[in-house]
Amino acid sequence: MAIKVKRTPRPERPPLWKRLVLGELIEGLMVTLVHNFRALREPFTVQYPDEQLPLEPRYRGVPRLRSHPETGEELCISCHQCERICPDRCIHIEDEPHPSGRGKRPRVFTIDYERCCLCGLCVEACPTKPVTSIYMSHDFELARYRRDEFKADLRELYFGKDKVVYGRRS
Ligand code: SF4
Ligand code: SF4
Repeated sequence: MAIKVKRTPRPERPPLWKRLVLGELIEGLMVTLVHNFRALREPFTVQYPDEQLPLEPRYRGVPRLRSHPETGEELCISCHQCERICPDRCIHIEDEPHPSGRGKRPRVFTIDYERCCLCGLCVEACPTKPVTSIYMSHDFELARYRRDEFKADLRELYFGKDKVVYGRRS
């Protein structure tokens, strides 16, 4: 049986002036010039921390814990999946029996933000669906002077760690 070979169409050749190095160079310089002139009229620079850009919905800040958004019930079942998958070993969990008599809940849950690389693997491993107990928050202004202050405990994971105000905001 004859095998039909499907030919892929050849990509279009760019015009001659584009194939010359000089043409590419001039095109690149023109882009830079246009942006420079635009920046003279309207500067692109954001004066952080006095000015801040809005964060995108999928922005990855530090991981935090949450309750069910509708029922307010604690979601974490202390399964340790996030702790096991974390490549930086920055999650530590200790369990206690759930007061309802069914299952467990975390008695101690800490994340060392100093070591966290914001990879999001803990969120992927979390089995509480459709809402994961652990999630990547939008918190990022968390610099500290002392190493032990980077650790977030159970309360801080639910309610957020105190933000550091780096500058005067208008
Ligand atoms: S985001 Fe990555 S490094 Fe940070 S706690 Fe989760 S698994 Fe660990
Ligand atoms: S946060 Fe999720 S993965 Fe981690 S212990 Fe709780 S339920 Fe398990």
